[in-house]
Amino acid sequence: MTACIQRKGMLIIISGPSGTGKGTLVKKLMDSDPSITFSCSVTTRAPRVGEMEGVHYHFISEAEYDRLLAQNAFLEHATVHGHRYGTLRAEVRQALERGRNVLLDVDPQGALSVMEQEQDYVSIFILPPSFSALRVRLHTRNTDDPAEIERRLRNARGEVKNIHRYQYAVINDDLELAFVQLQSIINAEKQRTIRFIPTIQE
Ligand code: ADP
Ligand code: 5GP
Repeated sequence: MTACIQRKGMLIIISGPSGTGKGTLVKKLMDSDPSITFSCSVTTRAPRVGEMEGVHYHFISEAEYDRLLAQNAFLEHATVHGHRYGTLRAEVRQALERGRNVLLDVDPQGALSVMEQEQDYVSIFILPPSFSALRVRLHTRNTDDPAEIERRLRNARGEVKNIHRYQYAVINDDLELAFVQLQSIINAEKQRTIRFIPTIQE
């Protein structure tokens, strides 16, 4: 009998404009799929109410960030809306080697940078149903002032133009539908033959 064991984890890159619902979808995914490890980024921004060190982010000082940058510790890094963020290369590598599926929630600059460096990844762009819906979501979330919201909307128009650099796109209109589509992509990608090595079971 031939049995297949999973060999290596896959790198899942989720990106899209601010306010499109990445964080909401990623949380649902993490709650439903135990094979996925969330890549906990570092950031120089202050924690928001309810955010925990080592869960949502590693919250570090500007000096510590500079030190990591000098050590080439980041797989990718970017300044996003005035704060610095980075994905820790070693954490991602180690989790992949352990066979974990590793999920990055990164801005489009970071996503494109990882896609340029890596061979094997699954990249998914989350789209809002419209720019007006995106504006409403950014206002409803209540984390940014009106000028900042307009800046994010302007950025969003540029980011959407790069959609064809990603393998998949999901329109987050109805949340449950978007979530099912996201799960379907990940579940299908898990079954690709490149993720398996055949072994003969005695
Ligand atoms: P991002 O992580 O992409 O910046 P969030 O996950 O913070 O976006 O979502 C932005 C806001 O939109 C939040 O208030 C969230 O509750 C809301 N939201 C997310 N998905 C939907 C959806 N499908 N329909 C309506 N509101 C949504
Ligand atoms: P927030 O500060 O609201 O959690 O995240 C702001 C933006 O930063 C989001 O678009 C999020 O995807 C992005 N982000 C979070 N971590 C990283 C990271 O490590 N690298 C990059 N490039 N973007 C990140």
